[in-house]
Amino acid sequence: MKAFVDRDLCMGCGVCETIAPSVFKLEDDGIAVVLVDVVPPEEEANVREAMDSCPEQAISIEE
Ligand code: SF4
Repeated sequence: MKAFVDRDLCMGCGVCETIAPSVFKLEDDGIAVVLVDVVPPEEEANVREAMDSCPEQAISIEE
């Protein structure tokens, strides 16, 4: 799985970083970035939860 953040939509709430801190991180500009090229299998459920929890629908995945 790959994960993506649309930085134009993200408003920096930090929910994704809280749910999956090894995959998402708020950058210095307060907007989330994806830290990994490929999501580790054990983090996939957390990434799906983060995607569902993002208030701006800024997270997408590619299987
Ligand atoms: Fe941005 Fe969505 Fe992450 Fe919040 S949950 S920081 S809006 S990508």
